[in-house]
Amino acid sequence: MDRYDMEDVVVAPPAEHDGTSPLKEWRLKFQAGTLTRNDIIWYIKTEAPNYFGFLTVMETDGPTLKCMFKESLAKEEIIDVIVEFMLNENPVTALEKLRMEGNTATVCGKVFKNGEPTYSCRECGVDPTCVLCVNCFKRSAHRFHKYKMSSSGGGGCCDCGDDEAWKRDQYCELHLANSKNPFESEIITSAVLERAEICFSAILAFCVNYLEIEPNASLQCLDGELDGASFCTVLYNDESHTFDQVINTLTKIARCRHKDAMEIVAAIDREGRAVVKCDTFKECNDLKTAIENQNIPPNGVLTNARHSPSLRTSVLNINSVACQQFALQLLSWFQEFLVRHYLFRKTFASLVQQKNESYCIRHILEYDVKLWKTARTCWHRLLISGMLMEYENKVVFAQEFSRRYASIVEEFINDDHDHSFSIVSLSVQLFTVPTISHYLIAREGIFDKLLHTFYHVAIEKFIHNRKLHFSKDIASMTFFKRANYILYDLRYLLSIKPELISGDLRRGFLEGCKALMRVLNVMQGMESITRQVGQHMDYEPEWECAFNLHIKLASTISQVIDWASSDAKLLRKLYKMTVRALVNNSFIVGSQDVEPREVAGHIANCLLYDVSKRPVSIHLPLSRFYAGIYLHLGAHDLTYDMLLAEAETINLKLTPREIIEPVLCTQAMTAQVAAGMWRRNGYSLLHQLYFYRNVRCRVEMLDRDIVCLQIGASLMESNEFLIHMLNKFDMIEWARPNYDTGLPQKLAEDELNRQKAMTDEFLELLIIIIGERWMPGVSFVTEEDRLRKEIIQLLCTKSYSHSELSRALPDCNGGSNDSIIEHVIKTVATFKKPIGSESKGVYEMKEHLYDEFNVYFYHYTKEDKSKAEEQQRERCKFKKELVCCPPPMLPQLTPAFTSMANILQCNVFLSITAIVMDRALDSRSRSFTESHLQKVLHLLGFAIQEELSEHYPFLSFYERSQTFNVLQKLEELARCPDLEAHHDFVLWTIKRFKQLQAKQAPNITSTSAAAAAAAATGSSSSSSSAATSSSGTHEHGGADQPLTSEQQARLEKENRSRLAAERRAKIMAQMQNAQKSFMKSNAEMFASTTEEATAAAATAAAATASKPSSDTPMDWDDIAESLEEQGAAALLPETSRTVACLGERRRHYEAVDIRFKCILCFEDCSISSSGPPLVSSAFVQTSRVIYTTPSAEGRRPALHVSCCGHVMHYICWKEYYSSEESKELRRPQRNRVPLNQAQNVEFHCPYCRTLSNTVLPVSDALQKFSPPSVPTSGNFMPLDNFVETLRMASELALAESATTTIDNMAHFDLSAQIIQKPTLHANFTDVVGSFHGALRNAMQSQLQGQRSRDSPNATDSDLETVSLLWDTCCYTLQALEVYQYATQKPLKAEMPMRHQSCASYLVRACALYSSNLTESQISNQRKQGVQLYDTIFNQKGNSVLEWDCFRMLVQLNFTVPNLLIASDERKTMLPCGSMFDFYILQTCFLANMTKAIILFDLEKEQARRRDIDEEQQYVDQLPTNIRDNMTTFYCNHNLAWLSLSRQQNDSEQLSVPTTMLAHLVKYVPRQMSSFLRCACLFYRCITDVDFPDSFPTDQPDRFELMCQYLGLDAQLGVYFDMESVYPTIMQSFASHPHISGQFLDCQPTASSQSKSPTIVPCQRPLPHLVTLYEDYSDLINSVSDIFCPNNEREEMKTPTMCLICGTMLCGQSYCCQPELGRQQVGACTHHAHFCGAEVGIFLRIRDCQVVYLSPAKGCFLQPPYLDEYGETDQGLRRGNPLRLYKPAYDRIYLQWLGHNLHEEIARLNENASVTVTQWQHM
Ligand SMILES: [Zn+2]
Ligand SMILES: [Zn+2]
Ligand SMILES: [Zn+2]
Ligand SMILES: [Zn+2]
Ligand SMILES: [Zn+2]
Ligand SMILES: [Zn+2]
Ligand SMILES: [Zn+2]
Repeated sequence: MDRYDMEDVVVAPPAEHDGTSPLKEWRLKFQAGTLTRNDIIWYIKTEAPNYFGFLTVMETDGPTLKCMFKESLAKEEIIDVIVEFMLNENPVTALEKLRMEGNTATVCGKVFKNGEPTYSCRECGVDPTCVLCVNCFKRSAHRFHKYKMSSSGGGGCCDCGDDEAWKRDQYCELHLANSKNPFESEIITSAVLERAEICFSAILAFCVNYLEIEPNASLQCLDGELDGASFCTVLYNDESHTFDQVINTLTKIARCRHKDAMEIVAAIDREGRAVVKCDTFKECNDLKTAIENQNIPPNGVLTNARHSPSLRTSVLNINSVACQQFALQLLSWFQEFLVRHYLFRKTFASLVQQKNESYCIRHILEYDVKLWKTARTCWHRLLISGMLMEYENKVVFAQEFSRRYASIVEEFINDDHDHSFSIVSLSVQLFTVPTISHYLIAREGIFDKLLHTFYHVAIEKFIHNRKLHFSKDIASMTFFKRANYILYDLRYLLSIKPELISGDLRRGFLEGCKALMRVLNVMQGMESITRQVGQHMDYEPEWECAFNLHIKLASTISQVIDWASSDAKLLRKLYKMTVRALVNNSFIVGSQDVEPREVAGHIANCLLYDVSKRPVSIHLPLSRFYAGIYLHLGAHDLTYDMLLAEAETINLKLTPREIIEPVLCTQAMTAQVAAGMWRRNGYSLLHQLYFYRNVRCRVEMLDRDIVCLQIGASLMESNEFLIHMLNKFDMIEWARPNYDTGLPQKLAEDELNRQKAMTDEFLELLIIIIGERWMPGVSFVTEEDRLRKEIIQLLCTKSYSHSELSRALPDCNGGSNDSIIEHVIKTVATFKKPIGSESKGVYEMKEHLYDEFNVYFYHYTKEDKSKAEEQQRERCKFKKELVCCPPPMLPQLTPAFTSMANILQCNVFLSITAIVMDRALDSRSRSFTESHLQKVLHLLGFAIQEELSEHYPFLSFYERSQTFNVLQKLEELARCPDLEAHHDFVLWTIKRFKQLQAKQAPNITSTSAAAAAAAATGSSSSSSSAATSSSGTHEHGGADQPLTSEQQARLEKENRSRLAAERRAKIMAQMQNAQKSFMKSNAEMFASTTEEATAAAATAAAATASKPSSDTPMDWDDIAESLEEQGAAALLPETSRTVACLGERRRHYEAVDIRFKCILCFEDCSISSSGPPLVSSAFVQTSRVIYTTPSAEGRRPALHVSCCGHVMHYICWKEYYSSEESKELRRPQRNRVPLNQAQNVEFHCPYCRTLSNTVLPVSDALQKFSPPSVPTSGNFMPLDNFVETLRMASELALAESATTTIDNMAHFDLSAQIIQKPTLHANFTDVVGSFHGALRNAMQSQLQGQRSRDSPNATDSDLETVSLLWDTCCYTLQALEVYQYATQKPLKAEMPMRHQSCASYLVRACALYSSNLTESQISNQRKQGVQLYDTIFNQKGNSVLEWDCFRMLVQLNFTVPNLLIASDERKTMLPCGSMFDFYILQTCFLANMTKAIILFDLEKEQARRRDIDEEQQYVDQLPTNIRDNMTTFYCNHNLAWLSLSRQQNDSEQLSVPTTMLAHLVKYVPRQMSSFLRCACLFYRCITDVDFPDSFPTDQPDRFELMCQYLGLDAQLGVYFDMESVYPTIMQSFASHPHISGQFLDCQPTASSQSKSPTIVPCQRPLPHLVTLYEDYSDLINSVSDIFCPNNEREEMKTPTMCLICGTMLCGQSYCCQPELGRQQVGACTHHAHFCGAEVGIFLRIRDCQVVYLSPAKGCFLQPPYLDEYGETDQGLRRGNPLRLYKPAYDRIYLQWLGHNLHEEIARLNENASVTVTQWQHM
């Protein structure tokens, strides 16, 4: 006895337990030895119901049921008690102690949840099913190998630590460490184990008992008082009803609220069942009956014959529901508990092996099907943790599993749950372990059993007349699909070939093969077809099932052949087994007549099976299996004859003729199809033929058929073989020399064409039989060579990306040959990296390998072939070689196939070639086409090259060809003018022939031999010269001419391209001239300013000269770099000769008429103030893009306008629009959200299809309406007067005309440029009105969503005001500025038309509208105007720190004119560059500068250590008083300084650092740049004065240049000169009470305080999307266990990341359906509404795709991640490691920043036939 047991006696139970604790009793009983598991079960049973409860809550719209099970309480009160009893210690401390001892699990065994990421290693995994969980992967060596990611379908488990799963690095760090821990434990003593045994068996017995759906084991689940509310109606999951059907049932019959119904459905889907109602037995039972009686037509495709169309329900006593609920919890806990220690698992394993217990393995396996989803999963996990972590337990379990296999599979097939929820899904854990699978094959006969089961349950009922014949009914297809899982299991079982096959294993394997033969036997000839004559087929026959069966079985067949290839004994037995099966199978080779056929003097006895009359089939698996086995005979020194002799003793004889017959028939049939003889058989046949050759099937179809024919060709006498072929193709007559003359004159064209086509097919088949020998066993090649050949042929057609290539290659053993493929690709191709954001990386073939190209490659489709041929011809032309596709050199045949080469010299072959050549030369021949000749030349090429290779001593083609005059005929052909297209090929053949001749007869001393020798030694590039030299001796002119014609063609082509180049150059020159003259005329436009222009050019030149050369990269992040240079410029005396658009020195724009063509009526039109209004289609959207910082604008989004700039008449547009609208209405309602009134109807620009939802008026330049005043300096009203006027105006509240306060009216008039109100077309206000309406609508729809959440505080009247228009204008310009900045485009850089026209149309429209407001609009504006004036000029309201100065500028510009002189109806002022506009700019400029100085942070600036030499110089030369003023201003107002001095308190005066001013002078211009750029854009639209040429086009815009353009003083010193009015204005801005009050206190985190006003920074930070992980696996791992925010217990199924803010959402799920307005929408839609103002960019992490979302619309995009092959992986199908690809992410960023998401969504939806997605549920 050991020490711990002593403690058993003395340790008293912990005190905190009350009297109900059974511990004491258990302990006593245990001591006495009378404790049984029933004691514990009884305790659980009575306790569990205490933790379950339900509650019916009355909501406004009906009652809602809330059920809950108090899990944590149940754990404390039941589970912990049991643990305490087992361990005899407080559970927490005991388990901690156990943990300290160390876990002993060396395998991970973590069970994957659905969607959890898994990793496999392409280098080390034994097969693709070997996977790691995230935690193991992160700690393993495979992280640095070539790995693959994928997401689990649920139910699998981590293989870390499994020796048989990995070739190396079996353990991660964690599990390697575990293997060092001891197996024994100090804590788990024998007494503990004894108690554990009792507890475990109690737990198991309890769970087994309670978890069945209808727990017949315990009838008390129905016991209880029938009238008490103690019953539940439970609804179960099935796969035959849709979510919507169930929701419908619940709302209609169970009267659930819709919301509850959705929750219930989600729960049923998740857990497999849910409680729908709690009530009396009668109520519950009535509901059950009602649901069951409701006959929902189930979803057609999923129908399962066994299932009734009603939903499955049951009524249970509430106590049983509680017990079931607890049983689930208990099982989950138990599983985790077992993971803790090896000894627990040992106890568990021995328990479940007790055969007569209810919880024995056998019972758990069999009763799986009676459980609901979660219950099943719990058991599966328990078995994995309990039985699969130790090898010996695994073997036991595998044995038990395979013994029950047949019955559990049958149950699974009849069930309707997904495979992953069935116990059969555990097969992958067992069958993929090689030692276990081999053991099972040898000892348990599992191979045989699987196939037997499959035969019995899946196909037996489809066998008619000893052949398989599937019916076309859907139910049987579902059923068949489920049965196919057996074949997957079979694939697992055979996936690893043993190194040595023992006797037992061989026996077991052969048993299985016998079963396989039985299956193949009924497949041979299945779904046979007979040629339809007369009328078409009545119905398309079923064919898919047969092909599915083939696909599922094909890999098994390959595996079986592979196993047999390594063991001679096995091979021999299997060969005989196959022969027996073939002999006994009667398909085609049954009882046939035989007749002799004669060609070229040879006679063969041919089987008479007419393919065009009798049934044939594509399915010949037996013949193909035979071919597969045959290939391996040679390796074991077995031959056909040897085995034939052995077989004959047991009376089995299979002749070569019989071997090839079925295959030959199928080949003849495909030829006839190509010849158009089977047209009446419909599409089903064509589909079948497609798959026959397709990469997914051909390995065990086409490829084997060719091998089969090659076997025939090598076993038969060559002439005989060819006669058999000719006979089957019905070409015996054709092969007679006088065939043409014998043709009846009136033979139908059809018949003739058919014959020609058959000839083509025949010749091509012959080429394939001879040429396609890159097959191990046929010739001396390896599997790798075979792959190499395949890849070379593919790359001859085009460049392939990695994924395209791997898709085009057959997948052998599920991708385990990945590394081999990669290796082979490297040897044949070079990789070209992707360039730009949308291309992908591709492989290009190495140049020299094109010699191996074969145009008749048997895996080519017709398109492939013509593409490849085209390419080859291009290449030849380019390299100046003979333009033809000659055959490649062939590898040497193996001994078994050597005699095949004889075909190339046999009489029948030679006579066929001679016949074709003769007919080619005979122009009267009717049975010839040129393609025959090409094929014959190809065959001759084979023959010549085979002899040249000297592999076959018996080959004497040259000698034999002389009797048929082959060379003479070739030379004749070369002279024949009719065969121009094949001329080069003929020349090539002759050349090769001459080489052969030279070799054969080296003694012939003739010039021809010498020439031939020269040709032979000459490289291919000199072939033309070789050809000419030979032509000189032999055929005069014959060879010469075509060559010259070829050269001529080349010459002509060169000529042509030269001419084209010249033409291009000419056009370019013309264009340049045009440009120059345009510039000239433009210069004339500014006639008065010629001297200025030159001066400006000079300054520009000087500027560029002083600049570093333009090849230094722009540095946009730090404009200071360029400002450094500017310091010098700033010191220069201000030039008066620069271009300015405002101020006293403004330049005037001479308005010109711009003419357009209306894009709808194509009539010319020009804008004039009174003409019919013109419009351009525009798109209005709500936006938050550039307001990423909290702003004064608050939660309200801004509006953005974009427009394509195409002009049309307003009238024309209205017509177009109404027709579009009615078209839209007529369209079927396809998941369209009904338009509500406040929604803008979308349409497309009739010209460029740009998405639009409104029109923007196109109006004339503003200066046309208000020509500028004559600038006579000095007669303008001064700035201080202007400020005073506006101050007064605000004080008088605009009540009286403010002009009364003005003393000098002339000055005022001149400065304000007051004009007569322009007469605009009557429709103009309509247009702007409708535009304004569109803005309102857009804003409204945004606000509506908010309303339900927030209180309805956004008043509609808010939206009525015209300031919405001004704000939109402002935001659009700001957005444009930001976009230009982000794309590194300075102002002068060329702007796309849509940006330019959009800005100018918008600004002009706003300006014109502002001068044409209605009375009510003006009075409406008045309030706001006063507020605005007050804020700016009277320091009431917000301080300058809270302003967006540009917004102020725009608002002022548009409100001043219409308010200031509103009293006079006839007069108006228009923003057009007047002095007033200039003053407004100056005011806002000063405000922004004040803000910059206030917010300046010297310390931070010093810390950045900028170079300030220039600035210091500038500051030093300033007059002292200005410097003092600046310093004083700084000390009085700078927030950083003020708070610093406040900290210093009363102590001695702080001194300002000497460099402060220099830093300030550097800082302020930088802070002004965004404001200035916006202002430049704005005033350019207002004045139409172009940016001067001095503006840089490849560098950041410079402060002083922008100031000059705007007429502002660029020298900061000026603004502190007390002589000027500036310091006073700045002073007044800076002394706003808010600044010293609120902001100073909460420095420096002003913005974080919610109460205090927020600072709008001078320079808004550039908006950006979230930073993504470089490595995609980091991203996917970051969401590996993320939970739904609404439901803590639920894993997020579709974690979706908002790329704008980084929030993780639970996308497209039933658990997260928040309300937006009155509609329930998906979490993403909801989030996008607020985060991105209705648009959103999301990354769906598990399926690796980007989603753009707009209201009720959306699109999927490629993710910005690329694998090492330069490809994206949308949907994460390939799973290669992915890395962030910056250009692609930038593209997404710019689309967002440029407000192009709506447009992109519309574009993608228009082009693609997008599957209908319920985007709003995203
Ligand atoms: Zn793991
Ligand atoms: Zn591990
Ligand atoms: Zn690895
Ligand atoms: Zn028109
Ligand atoms: Zn357009
Ligand atoms: Zn967001
Ligand atoms: Zn959710």
